[in-house]
This record gives sequence, structure tokens and C-alpha cells, in this order.
Amino acid sequence: MKVKTRFAPSPTGNLHIGSIRTALYSWLFARHYNGKFVLRIEDTDFERSDLKSVKSIFSGLEWLGLNWDEGPYFQSKRLERYKEVIKIMLEKGNAYKCFCSLKKLEDERTKQISKGEKPRYSGICRNLDQRNVLNKNYVIRFKNPISGKVTFEDKIRGKIVFQNEELDDLIIQRSNGIPTYNFCVVIDDLDMKITHVIRGEDHINNTPRQINILKSLNAQIPIYAHVSMILNEEGCKFSKRKDALNILEYYKDGFLPEALLNYIIRLGWSYGNQEIFSISEMQKLFNLKQISKSSSSINMKKLFWLNKYYINNLPLNYISNLLKYHINCENINLKNGPNLESVLILLRNRCHTLKEIAQSSRYFYEEFEDFEKSAADQYLIPENYVILKKLYENIKKISIWKNETLSTMIKNKSVKLKTQLRKISMLLRVVLTGNMYSPNISSIIFLIGKEKTLLRLKRAMVFIENNINDINHLEKK
Ligand code: GLU
Repeated sequence: MKVKTRFAPSPTGNLHIGSIRTALYSWLFARHYNGKFVLRIEDTDFERSDLKSVKSIFSGLEWLGLNWDEGPYFQSKRLERYKEVIKIMLEKGNAYKCFCSLKKLEDERTKQISKGEKPRYSGICRNLDQRNVLNKNYVIRFKNPISGKVTFEDKIRGKIVFQNEELDDLIIQRSNGIPTYNFCVVIDDLDMKITHVIRGEDHINNTPRQINILKSLNAQIPIYAHVSMILNEEGCKFSKRKDALNILEYYKDGFLPEALLNYIIRLGWSYGNQEIFSISEMQKLFNLKQISKSSSSINMKKLFWLNKYYINNLPLNYISNLLKYHINCENINLKNGPNLESVLILLRNRCHTLKEIAQSSRYFYEEFEDFEKSAADQYLIPENYVILKKLYENIKKISIWKNETLSTMIKNKSVKLKTQLRKISMLLRVVLTGNMYSPNISSIIFLIGKEKTLLRLKRAMVFIENNINDINHLEKK
């Protein structure tokens, strides 16, 4: 049997972590078995579906590299096919028209509830001689078996049993002639020869109904695996409204697809204590057995940790190419400064996201606006004026611009001026970057270049001058 899985999102909102997890598991399962992965857009709810959501599904999957082998199929384009099957079911007596008005159904419901019964459709229209009914307003219902049970072996939860008595005669076509979601899914899974349905646990209740329809069509029943829910960071149910950040927001925030997929696979799947999984390793190791039955929680700290790991462990040119998007977003012009890869080497083990790297790289490409107040208060003070002056003179004299030369010069100056190396480095940091946090200072000076370094030293000296009156006195000191 050739494995075939599908991802079947309804385009009614953001493609979020929860839906991506379903997509990832289905994709990995297909890839693991050299099978096929289908993309199907379940858009029969015309009021709630929109093009924006469809687009975000495509771009989200593309960004993460979850490529599909078939599709995208759109349910809205398959309405004729569903109607054709419904016609056959009506002819065979597996479905029937139900003429009950909403009011009648509501009254029935109220009565059942007041008697303490579970509300369900009583099936009045099941045995109606439908030829004699003139009323054109009807829905079509599936004739669900009245007794017996539906059993399926869920690959994550084990055996699940539903009594047919508990299942209503499901509406498969609405009064407006549009087939319903549960019916379209069945016909699609059947026509597309889906072997494994991997989806969220919120669909467990649909499964026995779908199995019954499949049985009535003498179709092969796929294997089902219902994945447990995701909780938000507070441990509450993941809310589509509050927590369902569009997956592309992670792209904009500077996360790597490798990190996000690694993070998402671990939301409910494990392989011993291993935390890091490359994509090919995920494909090799993924199975349904190791999916947890219990829910898993969002943990942003872990995502940041993984992102930093991948930023530091994937090839430099790959990361620097991705970084360019964020550099653009920050309006930084790379022509005004060093090669991006050399900046990346300096910054990558200090940052958790590409966006953070882009933001931290600004001082290599343009003048920073102001000195950070506390940095200036601590370092741009009269007693450091002379040190800056000496550094300026020394740097001006350097003819071979090398990192090592700069590093040696700074060390020598520290000895000569009887000033701690740490202090000189901090002072230079403030002068060159405007604040007190930066990587190795000689590398910074090296990349910023001689001309700009001298200008910034001047700027710092002017800053000190402007804050005091008696420079001559200072120089003499
Ligand atoms: N369209 C459904 C959803 O977005 C998924 C249906 C299925 O996987 O069977 O929740």
C-alpha cells in the first residue's frame, strides 16, 4: 500500500502553529514512507472562507518547505462530484431528504433536553414517502445505522468505540444545495485515495460519522491518528483568536524554518531525549507511535533557543542570505559597510533571531543617533578624553588595517596609559556603537574601517568637549 496523507485546512483564518503541526506530521509521515502528500483546501463554508487565508496557507507551507505532491484541491471546485455521490446515495436509500423546519427541529430539541435526553434528530423523515412532498425546502441526511457500533483503531489513542445510537443522521447537503464539510471530507479522502488521516483531536467526533458514510459506499476506511491539542504558555487551551499567530509572523520576526519545524515536531512527538532534529532526520525518524496522547504547551524560550542554535550551526552563506530580508526591513544599506557575512560571524552567537541580528548590525552601516545615556555618563567623561585622543593618533598612523594589529595596539595602549584593557575596550565600544554591548572590539573597529572609526572617535571627543568648559586644563592633567 502506497502511503498517502493530506493536509486539509479550512481557509477561515491564520495558518498557525497548531495547523502547521498537523501539516508537518502528515508531510513527515508521507516522506518517511516515500508516499504522497496532498494539499486540499476545505472551502465549502463560503461565508467564513477567504482568499487571504488561502494565500497565507500557500506561503506558510512554502516558507517551511512542506511541499505537496498533489493539489491544491479546492472543495469549492468539486461540488458537482459531491452532488453526484449524493444522488447515488439517495437512489440507493443511503440518504434521504429531510423536510423538517428549523422550528420543528428546535421544538424537538427542547423537548428532549427537558426530558433529560441527549438532543438528536429523531429521523421523522427517514421513512417518509418523499415523492409526495411538495415542499422544496429540504436538507439531505445520511441514513446512519440505528444500532451497532463504530470502532476504529486510532494510531495515537488506540481503540475508539462509538455507539451508533449516539450518532445523528448527519446532514450531508444543506438546504442551499451545498454539501456539508463532513461529507466532502469523506468523498475527498476516498477519491484522493488517502491512506492515513492525521488531524487534530477536535475531529474525533467526526470520525465515526465519516466511517459510516465510507462504509455505505463500500469504501476502504483510512487509518486515523488524532493529535492532542496544544496549550498556550499559560497552560490554557490554545485560542484561535488570541494565540493563533499567523505562521508568517515567525518569518517576519526572524525565525528560521529549520528551527520552527524542529520546535513544532517536538510539540507532541519525541525521540528519547533528543532535541535537535534536522529535516532529513525528522523524515527518517518520524512515526505515529511516538506521538504523545497528552497535550503539549507552547514554550517560546525553547523556540528562541532552537533558533539561536540553527543560526549558529547552519552554513554562513545560507543564514546571511536569509538575513538580507531583515536588513531590508530595517532600511539598512549594505553598500555603506562591511560584507554581511563578516558582521554575521560577529553577531550570530549573541542573538536569537535574524531580526535581532539585523537590528544589532546597524552601527556597521550608518552612524548611530545618540550615545546611550548611561554609557555616555559612565565613559564619555573628561578623564577619558586624553585616552581617546591617544587612540585617535595611534589609529590614524596604522597603515596595514588588520584585526590583529588593532588588537595589539589596544593592548599596548592599555599598558602605556596604565588603564585596564577592559576599560579601554568599553570606552571604544561606546565610541563606536553608542552603547556598552558589542562583540570583540578590535573586530568591530576592523569592520567599521579606519575612516569611520576616526570620525566616531572625533565625535566622542567633541561630545566630551561640549560637556565641559576647560579642555586645556584637561589636556594638561
Ligand atoms: N478542514 C478541517 C480543519 O481545518 C480539517 C479536516 C480534516 O483534517 O479532516 O480543521
